[in-house]
Amino acid sequence: MTAMDERDRVEGIEVPGSRLEFETQFGSEAACRAYLERVRWPDGFVCPNPACGGRHAWVTARGLHRCTACGRQTSATAGTILAGTRKPLRDWFELLWLAVGEDGVSAVALQGALGLGSYQTAWAWLHKVRRAMAAVSPELLMGIVALDVVSLASVESSTRRSVQSPTRVAIALDVSDPETGRVRLSPVPNSDRVAVERFVAGAVAPTATIRTTVKLRPAVAALGYQLDPLTLRAGRDVSCVHLDVAGRRLDDWIVETHHGAVRHRQLGAYLAEFAFHFNEHSSPPRVRFERLLEAMLAAVPGSARSLVGGADA
Ligand SMILES: [Zn+2]
Repeated sequence: MTAMDERDRVEGIEVPGSRLEFETQFGSEAACRAYLERVRWPDGFVCPNPACGGRHAWVTARGLHRCTACGRQTSATAGTILAGTRKPLRDWFELLWLAVGEDGVSAVALQGALGLGSYQTAWAWLHKVRRAMAAVSPELLMGIVALDVVSLASVESSTRRSVQSPTRVAIALDVSDPETGRVRLSPVPNSDRVAVERFVAGAVAPTATIRTTVKLRPAVAALGYQLDPLTLRAGRDVSCVHLDVAGRRLDDWIVETHHGAVRHRQLGAYLAEFAFHFNEHSSPPRVRFERLLEAMLAAVPGSARSLVGGADA
């Protein structure tokens, strides 16, 4: 197959829908690069030099794009979370494909699937993916939003250790349509009111109506949100059931996908991953893959370690 054939396939078929299509379409490094370049430059090459704006480039032997106007060299991954990666793009594509699967992938499973030398490498890659997932669909929740703070039993859990202070997570769920309702989550240590307020302000649109518990109503009212006359009470109304289900799914997911290997200081990144799966569950795999790749190319580079506080999971 020539490089041109591969480029045609990428442009024609978009993203694959099945594992077989994935392996066929992204079977070579050239096919992966062609696809990635199309996602990065949907309207064709654009020189990154703001004073230039050139639209044409030569591709060098090392696969870099050299602007014909100013001579600057760049690549489709420059300035993105994938910048400077020494791993083949095929490995990254494989990782993203595994990561958008129904429940995601653990670092242990990823290490096995890609034959990576160390758990630390798999862990660091996955945290880059979680940073991108946090950037997918950042829109604020609208309509009627159920809000509560729930306890997670699964974080830093151990059968030999009793939970001294359960992990508290604020959860906001759009209950206007329970089938498509989106979720936003954030750790709130000790149910701290300031942390809850910061979360609500960053997750819920000012025009939304918030349905919440007696305890949280004053904080929500102080932020200026409209309060639903219904108060959240266990067993009383249907949105409370949806919140409970989301909370239980999160607990189960931490145990079943990540085998409980989630530490308090990394919880925010894992919550972003869970929210991605929850919110995108009705999208086909090809759509989830493309959204995640777009987010990977849009995210600002930086070390996973600086974001999540080290690989001790
Ligand atoms: Zn240029």
